[in-house]
Amino acid sequence: MKLTQKILPAFLLLFIFQGASAQLKYLHCGRLIDGAGDQVREKVTIIVDGKTIKEVRDGYAGAGEEVEVIDLTDKTVLPGLMDMHVHLEGESNPRSYLDRFRLNDADIALRATVYARRTLMAGFTTVRDLGGSGVNVSLRNAINQGYVEGPRIFTAEKAIGTTGGHADPTNGTRQGLMDYAGPEVGVINGPDEAWQAVRQRYQNGADLIKITATGGVLSLAKDGSNPQFTLEEASAIVKAAKDYGMTTAAHAHGPEGMKRAVLAGITSIEHGTMMTEEVMDLMIEKGTYFVPTISAGKFVAEKAKEEGYFPAIIVPKALAIGPQIQETFAKAYKKGVKIAFGTDCGVSPHGDNAREFVYMTEAGMPPAEAIRSATVTAAALLGISDQLGAIEAGKLADIIAVEDNPLENIETLLEVAFVMKEGKVYKE
Ligand SMILES: [Zn+2]
Repeated sequence: MKLTQKILPAFLLLFIFQGASAQLKYLHCGRLIDGAGDQVREKVTIIVDGKTIKEVRDGYAGAGEEVEVIDLTDKTVLPGLMDMHVHLEGESNPRSYLDRFRLNDADIALRATVYARRTLMAGFTTVRDLGGSGVNVSLRNAINQGYVEGPRIFTAEKAIGTTGGHADPTNGTRQGLMDYAGPEVGVINGPDEAWQAVRQRYQNGADLIKITATGGVLSLAKDGSNPQFTLEEASAIVKAAKDYGMTTAAHAHGPEGMKRAVLAGITSIEHGTMMTEEVMDLMIEKGTYFVPTISAGKFVAEKAKEEGYFPAIIVPKALAIGPQIQETFAKAYKKGVKIAFGTDCGVSPHGDNAREFVYMTEAGMPPAEAIRSATVTAAALLGISDQLGAIEAGKLADIIAVEDNPLENIETLLEVAFVMKEGKVYKE
């Protein structure tokens, strides 16, 4: 009897709570950058119904009525930001290269929940995870199922590379310690293995495919920019991915590997450090996106100067490649290459994603365009423009707010005051 009495009010409470959460939310926005237009609208109400935006109305609606009002009248409201290049499974530190021998998947998973939450609280409601061990698939699922707070994740699971290339997990390891890596762990040689590796990623739960088209800065190998996929291998990757409805991203520093990836029909080029005019023209012709990750370049160049932060083989690569990205970005932007926002956070600290906006505007991109690269353009890259990227009726309610007007003060994006994802408030 006593038990029933205790349970009954709890049930009632749950019922009332669910009833309340199903009500409309009225967001009173002092300023609104809706992502659809270029203008800052003033005194606007966003009406959120469950997970979606029901209406965007001029003036402050709902006053005097019994509705839930969220007061953002002294803030600038924007669509939830999207970072097209993160690695949520880790964060670089001087011990990173030992961690892969010490950490179990559970250790990685627990840390990843912290990085995911930090990313969401920084105003990034959607990310592409461009490669980890596969824990990122479980993280995506845990977030979707409500166990963990974090951004909506589109994951590449494990990046695909070639033997000895960037993304070969056995690089730098003494022989016999790890099995020879094949397509099942994302290491391919030849088109047939490319197909197998893509199909394996599909089976493992990847949303998209990432390849390492050239050498990389942080792998334990000498060359940071040589081509590492043949045109035939890259083409096989893209064709296989298309069969499974997946887009493709190519890590690339050097121009030859980059060119092959673009010719193969890759969806986006990541970093693009030594991108030539020829490659830029080709990207414009093919509609390839450029995801610059200036943040990662700046971070590794700075850390390479710290004694012992990186293994010795990495230092010259970091010093040579790191500082070039911002300049390349400036050229590519002026030339008209499509730019989608991406940081490579996980190299640089998670939660610092918005620093990229500062670097982009420093290099000559107007603030409104930098914001679009992380909203409408990112949504287009993901193929989800019908659901996200702007604050419009019918779209998912991913909404953030900052103190100042970012078109006048871009650094205000570094301090996000309010975060809503799919109608649920995470930060207020
Ligand atoms: Zn990366």
